[in-house]
Amino acid sequence: MSVSKSAVHLDVLIVGGGMAGLLLARLLDRPGFAGRQTPLSIGVVESQPPAPRADAAPLDLRVSALSPASLELLAEAGCLSQLTAAVCHPYERMHVWQDGAPDGSHALTFDAAESGVASLGSIVENHAVRAALWAQLSRSANIQLITQTVKAIRETPEVCEVQCEAVELRARLLVGADGAHSMVRAQLGILSRERAYHQNALVAHLASERAHANAAWQKFLPDGPVALLPLADGRSSLVWSHPESSTAELLALSDEHFAGRLEKQLDNVLGKLQCTTPRVAFPLVRNHADVYTGHRFALIGDAAHRVHPLAGQGANLGFRDVAVLAEELGCHLGSLWADPGDPLVLRRYERRRKGDNALVLGAMDGLNALFTSPLANLAGAGLGWVNRVRPLKALFAERAMSSVGRG
Ligand SMILES: Cc1cc2nc3c(=O)[nH]c(=O)nc-3n(C[C@H](O)[C@H](O)[C@H](O)COP(=O)(O)OP(=O)(O)OC[C@H]3O[C@@H](n4cnc5c(N)ncnc54)[C@H](O)[C@@H]3O)c2cc1C
Repeated sequence: MSVSKSAVHLDVLIVGGGMAGLLLARLLDRPGFAGRQTPLSIGVVESQPPAPRADAAPLDLRVSALSPASLELLAEAGCLSQLTAAVCHPYERMHVWQDGAPDGSHALTFDAAESGVASLGSIVENHAVRAALWAQLSRSANIQLITQTVKAIRETPEVCEVQCEAVELRARLLVGADGAHSMVRAQLGILSRERAYHQNALVAHLASERAHANAAWQKFLPDGPVALLPLADGRSSLVWSHPESSTAELLALSDEHFAGRLEKQLDNVLGKLQCTTPRVAFPLVRNHADVYTGHRFALIGDAAHRVHPLAGQGANLGFRDVAVLAEELGCHLGSLWADPGDPLVLRRYERRRKGDNALVLGAMDGLNALFTSPLANLAGAGLGWVNRVRPLKALFAERAMSSVGRG
């Protein structure tokens, strides 16, 4: 690959304008970042930029349960206030159960009031977060938003050279934020450990007879967890992890039959359900990159790790990557001559994040395996036990709320 003399030169190039990539661009572009007189020149390459208005966007049912710490990061980036109540809805309780009723002996309930906080987090619409960040970045003189697809990457000692369809870019630091099928990871020859769960997650939005009461509901079924997350308009967002062999059948059911099946599986917690959107299935895969950084590159978010959605941690982990990478670069880039691609600085980011991510990936694996095993009933009793041991429950609640954001 040869990059012409007319190539655009940047300090930092972020490939991928998902939530993680755009949030990083925004944090690096804050006035006075690292105490610098001269702002960094930053590029973001994204092949599918968010539509400016949700009603103009193609149907995107993806929502994320963001922890208070992740929301704090969005606030730091100046983005939280841009999200209307319609697309960012706080939830106050979380009911998790395996057998019987959601308040029975095999159930665990987290309550914001019990933890002395206003909410346990918020359910946000992914496209709305991206649209808000994109709009902010488009107003910055230091940011180039490039609507292109990256085709090839070449490393040299001085820069990373990136070839898009119609533009060539050179950057002193290349950040791969291009999601689970990261081409940055592949082009840089970084190996990753991938394992399919042989499950798909089926997502849809549903209306319910009874109010969701700003609560998230999750039941561990014998072949995978099913969750309803509360949305601002009174509907709930469904994430139903199930064996891939059942996907065709679940997709083929009529809306009425599908809703009926779900009501039964969820012990009628919200009464009668009604499908208000089509159903979409996502394959569930675990993946972890062997390395996150090297000379002039770093991976963040799903490009570095992909986790089972059973505890809604994927985006939260990505946000924490962003916070730590921005923090390490912030400590280093005070002087005009400091190199953003310095491998020692990038390595500090990797050291702080890889272990934490591995722990969460392993925990999600373990929970998924345990609750779909013959020991599921014992695990369900364990939920009830944690529910009754107050200090332990408080510890779990604290961990869920803070440590996967900035912490
Ligand atoms: C069913 C389901 C439910 C989930 N629920 C939750 C939850 O409740 N809470 C939570 O925290 N997480 C949740 N997650 C995980 C969360 O959605 C992801 O972790 C998060 O969206 C990843 O963000 P990202 O920015 O790293 O990557 P992505 O969102 O995948 O963004 C990558 C971007 O890169 C762009 N791109 C890719 N290749 C190129 C290229 N060659 N050139 C240019 N651009 C490119 C893509 O267009 C895309 O916009 C869930 C996931 C699933 C599947």
